[in-house]
Amino acid sequence: MSETFPAPSGAGDFIADAVIEDNASGRYSGRVQTRFPPEPNGYLHIGHAKAITADFGIAERFGGVCLLRFDDTNPDAEEAEYVESILEDLSWLGYKPAQVVYASDYFEALWQWASSLIERGLAYVDEQTAETVSQQRGGFGKAGIESPCRDRPAAESLDLFRRMRAGEFPDGSKTLRAKIDMQSDNMQLRDPVMYRIRRARHHRTGDAWCVYPTYDWAHGQSDALEGVTHSMCTLEFESHRPLYDWYLEQLELPREKPRQLEFARLELTHTVTSKRRLLELVRQEIVEGWDDPRLPTLRGLRRRGYPAAAIRAFCAHIGINKTNSRHALEELESFVRAELNRSAQRRMAVLRPLALIIDNWPVDNDGTGLVEWFEVGNNPENPADGTRRVPFSGRLWIEADDFAEVPPPKFFRLSPGREVRLRGAYLVTATSVVKDETGAIVEVHALYDPATRGGDAPDGRKVKSTMHWVSAAHAVEAKAALYGRLFTAETPGERTGDPMDDLNLDSRELLANCQVEPSLAALAPGEVVQCERLGYFACDPRTPLLFHRTVGLRDEWANIRKKGA
Ligand code: ATP
Ligand code: MG
Repeated sequence: MSETFPAPSGAGDFIADAVIEDNASGRYSGRVQTRFPPEPNGYLHIGHAKAITADFGIAERFGGVCLLRFDDTNPDAEEAEYVESILEDLSWLGYKPAQVVYASDYFEALWQWASSLIERGLAYVDEQTAETVSQQRGGFGKAGIESPCRDRPAAESLDLFRRMRAGEFPDGSKTLRAKIDMQSDNMQLRDPVMYRIRRARHHRTGDAWCVYPTYDWAHGQSDALEGVTHSMCTLEFESHRPLYDWYLEQLELPREKPRQLEFARLELTHTVTSKRRLLELVRQEIVEGWDDPRLPTLRGLRRRGYPAAAIRAFCAHIGINKTNSRHALEELESFVRAELNRSAQRRMAVLRPLALIIDNWPVDNDGTGLVEWFEVGNNPENPADGTRRVPFSGRLWIEADDFAEVPPPKFFRLSPGREVRLRGAYLVTATSVVKDETGAIVEVHALYDPATRGGDAPDGRKVKSTMHWVSAAHAVEAKAALYGRLFTAETPGERTGDPMDDLNLDSRELLANCQVEPSLAALAPGEVVQCERLGYFACDPRTPLLFHRTVGLRDEWANIRKKGA
């Protein structure tokens, strides 16, 4: 297991309490085994991170093991590509499963177990259409209707079941159903389907099977075959627990019966975490693929620059609970900012460049402008990150909105006659502007005070503003992508039922002529830096000199919390 493992959520964690109770009673002889069971039908997202933290965290905390099980019982939607991505994303998040297993590994064992249920009169082959079966199920307070096939002799069901597997019947024409209770108050127990006929190529078993087990029939049995003790899932499976238990109680298990425990899903404001919704965004090309930095997929967050450690810390912080709630995206961002503040090196970059010419800047021996190199610390939070050399000269780029020819009230940045600090370099005073034929300012002229090297005046005079800058002759041209919320509403779809109605159509701004300090051209793919005053930026993994803004510098979560308090 990874060394950077998050501390489990600790007190108040009801799953940990359940394990402690089981250990005390000797239920599993002190053994703890969990599993993270994704269906390989999409990419992992931030919600899965919570489940992963819970599954691996509980195992780790109690000296147990956690397996990765691909829940691959539905070949229609599943693909090997998703299996690969899940393995990669899990490893990126910092978790190493004790073993990688597949529900499809148990297709034969499940088949044998199902046959034994038929032999004991606990399951039967139904030949009615799916529609009829669903109508007969009834509803709460509405009686269920027993299938005419329910009481057919076991031998007849067994024969049909074998022929289903042999491919004698068309898709959807027959199902195997458990014979439980058509009048149960719990709909899950009204003779649930265990197998359906489906001719679809499975990513691992190919065409070996044309009958596939349902989730409910496969899940608990897979847990039991592997020796899982605590099987965690999300709250919507609470009503499935009696079925989970029923199946296991009918079978002769190799080890103690596993126990299902349910916890709340993680949802975040301004985004969606259902795989179906995410697929829609990708298919309709609203985003550019599964790793679009606006998506809450782990690969989207990673490309955006979110450190895995920040995601783990967030999940540990919110803990494992039983009430569904939507967490503010800003809360997750505050963990990202805290982690990056510690780990990200500082750099200077200008997003919307405006030329600043220092008219009294000295000329070098060769007649060109002097270049002065400043030794600048890479990270004030971490001296071990060392220093770098940053060139300064008489022609600089500054941020266009750091200058105003006629400053509005409370504008303390550069304007004619005003002195400001160029971060770590000198104090400069703007003197005049040059405009093009449209009246747009193309150059600001200024004078610098040579006595202020390093950014402080010997006479102690103060300036109200410190601005970042990049030497024009040394600057590298780059692109920056700035992101807004993907959905305008906190709860997408709350108004109309369709999250797409709340899409923010303006969720990305691409700036194509940024000017950045030369060291930014040498960033490793995926590396994240703090650009002074602008926020954290991640270097794109594929496109050189494309930077994604991970998050701004202001802690919006602090404000939200204050308002809430
Ligand atoms: P979706 O509804 O998006 O398809 P799912 O629950 O079907 O999601 P799985 O791949 O089956 O996705 O999930 C694997 C594990 O992750 C399950 O234990 C599931 O309960 C858990 N999980 C999925 N989404 C969330 C979430 N938003 N919060 C917490 N756990 C989640
Ligand atoms: Mg699922």
